[in-house]
Amino acid sequence: MQEKLSGAEIRQQFIDFFVEYGHTFVPSSSLVPGGDSTLLFTNAGMVQFKDVFLGTDQRPYSRAVNSQKCLRVSGKHNDLEQVGRDNTHHTFFEMLGNWSFGDYYKKETITWAWQLLTDVWKLPKERLWATYFKDELGEIPEDRQAAGVWLQQAGFDPDHLLAFGRKENFWEMADTGPCGPDSEIHFDRGPEYCQKSDDPHHVCQVNGDCDRFLEIWNNVFIQYNRLSENELVPLEKTHVDTGMGFERIVSILQDVPSNYKTDLFMPLIKYIQSLTGDSDAEREANLTPYRVIADHTRATTFLIADGVVPGNIGRNYVCRMLIRRSARFGMKLDLNEPFMANVARIVIENYGDFYPELKRNAAAIMDSLTREEKQFKKTVAAGLDHLDEILSDLRIGGKTILDGALAFDLYATLGLPLEITRDVAQEQGLDVDTEGFQEAMEAHRLASGAGEIFGEMGGEDVQIYADLLAKLQQSGELRATGVAYSPYQPIHEPTEILALVRDGKAVDKVGVGEQVAVLLPRTWFYVEAGGQVSDTGQIVSVNGNKWTIKITEMQKPAAGVIVHIGEVLEGQPKVGDRALVQVDQDRRHQIMRNHTATHLLHAALQDILGDHARQAGSLVAPDRLRFDFTHPQAMTRQEILAVEAHVNQAILANYPLQIAEKSLEQAMEEGAMALFGEKYGAVVRTISIGDQEDLSYELCGGTHVDETGDIGLFLITFEGSVAAGVRRIEAVTGWRAYQYARERMNFLDQANTFLGTAPSELLPKIQSMEEEISISKKRIKSLEGKLVKIKIKEQNQLSYVPEYDIQYLTEIFPNVDIGALRESTDIFQDNYTSGCIVLGSTDSNKNPIIVTAITEDLVDKGLHAGKIAKSIAKIIGGGGGGSARLAQAGGKDKDKLREALDQVPNILKNMLDEKKHKIDK
Ligand code: ATP
Ligand code: MG
Repeated sequence: MQEKLSGAEIRQQFIDFFVEYGHTFVPSSSLVPGGDSTLLFTNAGMVQFKDVFLGTDQRPYSRAVNSQKCLRVSGKHNDLEQVGRDNTHHTFFEMLGNWSFGDYYKKETITWAWQLLTDVWKLPKERLWATYFKDELGEIPEDRQAAGVWLQQAGFDPDHLLAFGRKENFWEMADTGPCGPDSEIHFDRGPEYCQKSDDPHHVCQVNGDCDRFLEIWNNVFIQYNRLSENELVPLEKTHVDTGMGFERIVSILQDVPSNYKTDLFMPLIKYIQSLTGDSDAEREANLTPYRVIADHTRATTFLIADGVVPGNIGRNYVCRMLIRRSARFGMKLDLNEPFMANVARIVIENYGDFYPELKRNAAAIMDSLTREEKQFKKTVAAGLDHLDEILSDLRIGGKTILDGALAFDLYATLGLPLEITRDVAQEQGLDVDTEGFQEAMEAHRLASGAGEIFGEMGGEDVQIYADLLAKLQQSGELRATGVAYSPYQPIHEPTEILALVRDGKAVDKVGVGEQVAVLLPRTWFYVEAGGQVSDTGQIVSVNGNKWTIKITEMQKPAAGVIVHIGEVLEGQPKVGDRALVQVDQDRRHQIMRNHTATHLLHAALQDILGDHARQAGSLVAPDRLRFDFTHPQAMTRQEILAVEAHVNQAILANYPLQIAEKSLEQAMEEGAMALFGEKYGAVVRTISIGDQEDLSYELCGGTHVDETGDIGLFLITFEGSVAAGVRRIEAVTGWRAYQYARERMNFLDQANTFLGTAPSELLPKIQSMEEEISISKKRIKSLEGKLVKIKIKEQNQLSYVPEYDIQYLTEIFPNVDIGALRESTDIFQDNYTSGCIVLGSTDSNKNPIIVTAITEDLVDKGLHAGKIAKSIAKIIGGGGGGSARLAQAGGKDKDKLREALDQVPNILKNMLDEKKHKIDK
């Protein structure tokens, strides 16, 4: 073996090796798969090339090499349980791959793999093993070709070639689609890696159950298209898709026993160790938390750089879960203050050259991590205590499974992700009913109408459209690349209905009032992408029987398929009818204004706030635009106005828009802004705005105005928060902006007319009126108080409870505060030698209040003001109390105030009756 190479050198050597053999280097796509609603995260190198295999996308190269960012924590590929517990599985990892799109095949790729591993990297040949496909059911032909190529490799031990069946060596992207046999390369790490040597029945073997043989590289030969469970058709072209675990090959080349001991992870582990103060031996004895923290921090650093911030559903949930899980493992190491930002800083330093998005988003990454850790501390610590109680109850009750609904409750109310609950339960020898959790969550999701939280997002009707596509391609009615997409072309030529789908079934014709999906060979409708909503409009008959379909929605149900969805307004459209597409042009124009304005807004935000203000979500609709971006705090009013002014200046400058197609590489080199969640092919569309120096330069597939002046006017209508570290701006343009401004000016005009002021005098006028009102209010209050006192003084006839010879006074005064009421009772006491007074009013919330007081002699007789107040409080729906002489009460039901005061003689009487009764006894 050579002198130790660094991880970065190993990655580069892999790329250089294949570039030498004519491969084009293709940068990693985002962890968020673009334009693919079936997948939560990119989980293999092939995700960005899926459509190339299906024949619905083309690239200017037929050989590619890349290092792809992958995340395996959801859906079909979920390695979370292994992470931290073994040395070879991560949540986030890099997959090195070489690709042939209808170019070379098995011979070349196997030969190159062997050459790279043994010649360039000098791995001992006797420690390499290879597998090939042999169908255990005997239905799919055995891959003799691959086996033959292996046997030709110089120095390859024929005994190291093993055949495996479908589970190990037949690779499928999904239930349908491109697939084929594969050949895995395994490395024998040596008998000392076997953790089962004590077991006399154990045999170390490839694909066995110990750590001795490590899978490092999978070579997939894509030669079939799976149409259904038992229908496999050969593809016209064959492809190669390979994936090598980067961290694993680095551990082998650096000759260390674990991925975590490579230079990719050691700096992170060392840093964490410096925080805990553990010795090396202590660290090794308690390695799991170190591994989890290093893994999860690295994963979330990459996730946030790709625009996935912590949140409650979908991808955001996964980001939150990973941060919280890492924070909890931190607690196990007594790391109780936020620490992940500093770990992330090391990730950014070490990976930033190859993945510049990390550097660009460094501030946002560190900020998001720290915020989420703080949030975790605030809410989740309580959740953990609660969980401990639940678990100990379970154990006492002899149970071993924590109820799924209960686990969901811990998540919903205390923010404890299932994964953490499961960790804690497992540490105590218990388990969680995850199915029950999912059910509870699903029920909750349905009830709340929110988005999907876990796993793959399902695409309905995929099968029927995949079948239609295959059929129409075979008959030549559809091109190999599927439906032609021409949203940028103004001219709509007549076309033809290729298929109609109603209720999930292909039909020949549809009638008035029916909902239908219409498939044409070409469409001029824009299909929702990059935040821009789909077009709406109509499809009408060209000649023959007259019909009209109103189109309200566009969908891409399967790769290469675009359908128009809507309702038949008249006539009976049939498959084969000539048709004309009519996009709603007014609506489209409004959308274009908003889309171009979105680009100007993005550029203005970066100008005013800084480069960290990047797009985190966008909606471009006809009536408004909504733009989410990363920024840690609320914008000031000044900043908002400056951004708005920037955009309007660019509009007035009437810059032309340049729209060009170029290679992704060139666009990136020129500094074009790429957005997350967008899928970019090798050829990209760029939009630049500005004169000589571009004001804005973005990759974008949307539709735009020709010149910025077309936007008319741009007004920001809202600025607020969406999530930690993410702000939202809403704005209007064009006619909507005019309407918005006009409406506001009308309000202003009405106010000026009413007050007889000029616009510039309006605010001072309102301020002076406010002042006057507040002075007047105070005066009224004090006068009302005085009035009450006068009334009480003037009262010469009090009411009377004859049985006990008690005088009393009850009175309601509107809008008098409790202080004034209390003072008035003093006046009463000064003026009457004996008696009870109860005064009622309503407070500023329109709730009833009362104050009551009695003279000293009545206390001696057995009355108590506090008790009187309590009795009254019961009637007005509230509470009250106080001393024997003075008390007050408040309630909710002001309509009961009168009734309550009418009850005063009875209350007094009852109180004295009771007293008497006691004495009699
Ligand atoms: P394993 O059986 O080891 O989980 P796999 O069969 O799931 O591997 P593939 O889907 O074939 O792996 O992925 C290609 C390569 O990516 C593997 O050969 C392996 O080197 C690497 N790999 C797969 N999963 C992980 C992971 N969770 N962390 C790091 N590397 C991985
Ligand atoms: Mg796996």
